Amino acid sequence: MSSKNVTITVFGGVEEIGGNKILIADSGYDVKIFLDFGKSFEISRRYYESPFTRPSTIQELISIESVPDISNLYTVACDITKATREERENWKNGKYSEEEPEPPVDAVLVSHAHLDHYGYVSLLNRKIPIYLGECAEKIVKARMETSTLNLETNYLCLDFKTFHSGSKIKINGLEIEPIHVDHSIPGAYGFLVYSSEGMIVYTGDFRMHGHASQLTQDFKDRILDEGTPEILICEGTHTDKSIISDENEVRRKVSQVAETYEDLIIADFNITDFDRFRTFLRVARETMRKLVLSTKQYFIFSAMNACKGLETPCLDKSNDILVLDPQKKRYSVWERKLLEKMRRKDRVVNYDEVRSKGEEYIFCTSIDSITQVKQLKPPEGSLYILSTSEPFNEEKELSFEKLLNWLEFYGLSMIHVHASGHAGPLEIRKFLKETRPKKVIPVHTEKPMQFKRYYRKCVKDVVVLRQGHSYVL
Ligand SMILES: [Zn+2]
Repeated sequence: MSSKNVTITVFGGVEEIGGNKILIADSGYDVKIFLDFGKSFEISRRYYESPFTRPSTIQELISIESVPDISNLYTVACDITKATREERENWKNGKYSEEEPEPPVDAVLVSHAHLDHYGYVSLLNRKIPIYLGECAEKIVKARMETSTLNLETNYLCLDFKTFHSGSKIKINGLEIEPIHVDHSIPGAYGFLVYSSEGMIVYTGDFRMHGHASQLTQDFKDRILDEGTPEILICEGTHTDKSIISDENEVRRKVSQVAETYEDLIIADFNITDFDRFRTFLRVARETMRKLVLSTKQYFIFSAMNACKGLETPCLDKSNDILVLDPQKKRYSVWERKLLEKMRRKDRVVNYDEVRSKGEEYIFCTSIDSITQVKQLKPPEGSLYILSTSEPFNEEKELSFEKLLNWLEFYGLSMIHVHASGHAGPLEIRKFLKETRPKKVIPVHTEKPMQFKRYYRKCVKDVVVLRQGHSYVL
């Protein structure tokens, strides 16, 4: 067997946090797969300002190197920028008429349902199967249903194939084993890829300090069972700096504040951070407040709530979780149905009610925080708890400074309480020392050279790849 059977090429996720697109080509098994196919927030921020400017075509995204230039990788049959209304309707029923060309890769494996890991599967040739966790599929579908259909949100007609921890995925002769890890979203996985040149391990995004740290421990144990990884593709979000904190600490701090605070509390956290949602719910219960969610938050947390094996509050039966009626002129179908259902249970509030009895609520916000604050017009003296990374979190493209200006205008103060979804440097060191990979490729970090130097004592051979460059195993 040739010694140049396996090539790893990174098309995103190097020298940036997120946008992972890692191509593994194994000629020993005649197979090519992508690990993740995420949206790069870094490139997106450089060229667009959502929601005012968005990508117009797939070709445009190729031109700005947001996605790789590989022929037949992208959809022809389900190109939303060329679709008629009738075609869109057909796609919703899973039907498309035009033929897709033969794709250049055999599969895409998605580690978890954060946009910087799965976002741009929306652009892909519909003949490519997309493997993702059962819970991740639920989240992707809920997000699609609550978004306006465009180039970046068109997950229609994709061939989703779901897995769970320990599944054996076989693509041609290549076997891949997903193992769950703990991250700030349920249904996150790392992968053990049994290539013809030995085991490649991909961490996806992971941490060791969350509620479910045992999941990451399971991932590590499974690697140890299999022996030394030939190569570890490892996330390094917090290579340069981090704060040592965990979810219990977040709960303690928020709880301390809420116990004595006699005005409205606004909680800003990521729309897919189910752990943080549970933390705020617990604090709300302890302090006799009710938790107010936007319709979109409620819808997406409900989808996560349905994930198997998740220790979850049942949203449906929790009378202390309310939904905000945004009192818009037009509602989407899913939103109208949700509000009708919740109204029958007397679990709907509006901005006026929240404003007038602020001390009774924790008002939750995620993506559209500035709009929410403007519509709520919070009373002076309300408290804003920022519970995401600062100033940008993974999925939020807001101007932090503008938010601060609005809080100043309304007479609010902000406190920052957060525990990261990513492993800190000490956790990564320990992981590297224990799993002892022969080589490491850092991804999901702005500082790959710092990664190389800082962890050199644990792993001698750190391979720093630039965008579009390859490593031959
Ligand atoms: Zn993530």
